[in-house]
Amino acid sequence: MDALQKLQLLGPAAAFEPAEEVGPLGERATMPNTPDELAGCIAHATLPGGRRVPMLKTLVSSACERDCHYCPFRAGRDFRRATFTPDELADFTAQIYRQGLVNGVFLSSAILGGGPRTQDRIIATAEILRRKYHFQGYLHIKVMPGAERDQISATMQYADRVSVNLEAPNARRLADLAPHKQFSDELLQRLRWIHELRQSLPGRQPSISTQFVVGAVGEPDVEILMTSAYLYRDLKLARTYFSGFEPVSDTPLEHNPPIQLHREHRLYQASFLLRDYGFDVEELPFQPDGNLPLYEDPKLAWANLHLSQAPVELNTAAREMLLRIPGIGPTTADRILRARRQGTLRFLSDLSKLGVSTKRAAPYILLNGRQSPRQLAFWTG
Ligand code: SF4
Repeated sequence: MDALQKLQLLGPAAAFEPAEEVGPLGERATMPNTPDELAGCIAHATLPGGRRVPMLKTLVSSACERDCHYCPFRAGRDFRRATFTPDELADFTAQIYRQGLVNGVFLSSAILGGGPRTQDRIIATAEILRRKYHFQGYLHIKVMPGAERDQISATMQYADRVSVNLEAPNARRLADLAPHKQFSDELLQRLRWIHELRQSLPGRQPSISTQFVVGAVGEPDVEILMTSAYLYRDLKLARTYFSGFEPVSDTPLEHNPPIQLHREHRLYQASFLLRDYGFDVEELPFQPDGNLPLYEDPKLAWANLHLSQAPVELNTAAREMLLRIPGIGPTTADRILRARRQGTLRFLSDLSKLGVSTKRAAPYILLNGRQSPRQLAFWTG
C-alpha cells in the first residue's frame, strides 16, 4: 500500500475524533484546490484565535491492541487496517503542505506495542515534519494513554495543541466504556503532567484539550460537566470536546442506542458557560435525571429562572452579571463596559450596534431604569 492509499484509509478514520472546529471532510465548495483523492482526508478547521486553515486529520495507525467497547478500531474487529512509518507520513504531509493543500495537521493513533512505543512513533513523525521539512503550520498531537512524562515534554516541543482523550467523566464510567484503560493513572495523570509542564517549561506552550464519548454508557450530563469544570478550572484546558456515541457493528455496545439529538450541542453550550461565563456546575439547569433539558438553551433556562422577575440594569451591572444575560457574550460584555463610560445606554439600538442579540437579551434587561417596549410586548403577549 502506498502513502496515499494509507492516508485514504487513515484520514477518514480520524474523523471520529473532534478537534478544533473542523468542518465536514471534503468541503469542495470552500476548498476547491483539494484533489479528489485527498478530499476525504482534509477539512477546514477554525483554529484558536479564529484563523481557518485546511487541516489534515489522520491516524499514524489504525491497528490497535486495546478493546474499548465502543471503538471501531478495537482489537479483533474485522476491517482493513494500515500503519504509517514516521518517515512515510511526514514525507507525504510535507509534500501536500508545500503544495499549499494543508496548513494544519492533527496526529493521533490507535495503540500498538503499548502507549509509550506508540507515542514514540507520533513524536518521530512530528519531529521530522518540524525539523527536516520545517513545517510551520498548526500541529495538534494526541498523547497516548500511558505515555511517559519525558515523551509528553518532547511532544509539547512540536505541538500547538496536545490532547488526552479521557473518554469518560470518571473511573466508573470508563470501566463500562473501555475496561482496560485506567482513568486516573493512564489518562488524567497525563493531563496533570501537561498542565505542570506548561507552567514549568520556558516559552509559549501548547494548549490542552480532551474528548468525552457521550451517551454510550448511561453517564448523565452532570458527571461530564463536573469533570469538565475541574479540567477548565484546575488544569486550564482550552476545550473539552464531546463525541456523540454512534453504535458500531461488531462491538460490545453495538445494540446501545445512539446519542439523543441536541445532547452534544447542549453540552457544548453548558461547557462554554463553565469556561467563559463564570457559571458553576451547580447553577446549570439539570433535570432530576442529571441531564440538561434537550430543547432549551441552558443559559436561557437559567435566565428564565433568575432574571425574568429581576432584570439587570445594563448601565451599572458588573461584567459577571452582564455575562449571565442571554445574547451577551464576553466580547459584547466588554463593549458594553466601554460604551457606558462614554454615555448612558438608553435604547436597544445602542446595544445592537455593540453586537448584542437584542431579541434574546431584551426580556432580561433594563436600560436606564426602563424595560424596552419589546420586553413589555413579550411579557404581556
Ligand atoms: S485504544 Fe483507542 S483506538 Fe484502541 S480501541 Fe481504545 S479507543 Fe479505540
